[in-house]
Amino acid sequence: MIEISDLNVHYGRVRALTSVSLSVDEGKIFAVLGANGAGKTTLLRSILGLTSAKGAIRFEGSDITSRPVAERVRRGIALVPEGRKLFPDFTVAENLRIGAFNRKDPDGVRRDIDEVCEAFPVLKERYQQEARTLSGGEGQMLAIGRALLSRPKLLLLDEPSVGLMPIFVSEIFKMIASVARNKGITVLLVEQNTKKALAVADRAAVLELGRIAFEGGASSIAADPRVKEAYLGG
Ligand code: ATP
Repeated sequence: MIEISDLNVHYGRVRALTSVSLSVDEGKIFAVLGANGAGKTTLLRSILGLTSAKGAIRFEGSDITSRPVAERVRRGIALVPEGRKLFPDFTVAENLRIGAFNRKDPDGVRRDIDEVCEAFPVLKERYQQEARTLSGGEGQMLAIGRALLSRPKLLLLDEPSVGLMPIFVSEIFKMIASVARNKGITVLLVEQNTKKALAVADRAAVLELGRIAFEGGASSIAADPRVKEAYLGG
């Protein structure tokens, strides 16, 4: 459903991505792993059209390489950036509704809000509370919930587990697995929590200095001795 070919991104003289090619089938979870600065965020930003990338990006069979960001969002691509970017003075309810701003089916929006609150009950408890009062884990749940309210076909997640307590990490990975398996949403998951990411992913790639160093089925990546040594603590 998304196919990236020979993607190259420069920031001035810095090469952030070099000849990156990968594809993800509908409803599958693809993990993008790698150290700080490997180019993971740049890859997600490029898919949404936030960098001046060279190469080709096809989404559901259409070439979107030079399409504007707003069109990519309309076509069903949603990004949950690192650091969540919530509206702190708005309530949980308002943040969720903002995710649905493009939709014209109020009944469907209500149903989806109920569903998100069922998956993350803490959001129901905090429904009328301002987002600024949420903990890191709760904020991450809200950020994912808000992205789901746009009914995305492709969900781009940038390090959803970073800085969270283990209990939240497990809940968030459970939700990621469930949106792919139960809703058929395709997920591109950038993570430094290599073990957890490989446990939910179907396929994975490891980026090193902007290039794909390894790519394959998640279990074969997890079993690769080079990946084990460098990213799974030996
Ligand atoms: P992290 O895990 O630290 O978020 P990352 O794998 O997501 O890292 P990117 O943020 O994509 O990596 O960065 C890739 C490279 O591009 C790094 O060398 C980074 O310093 C550089 N870079 C990223 N954004 C910019 C920018 N706006 N201007 C200049 N260089 C940048």
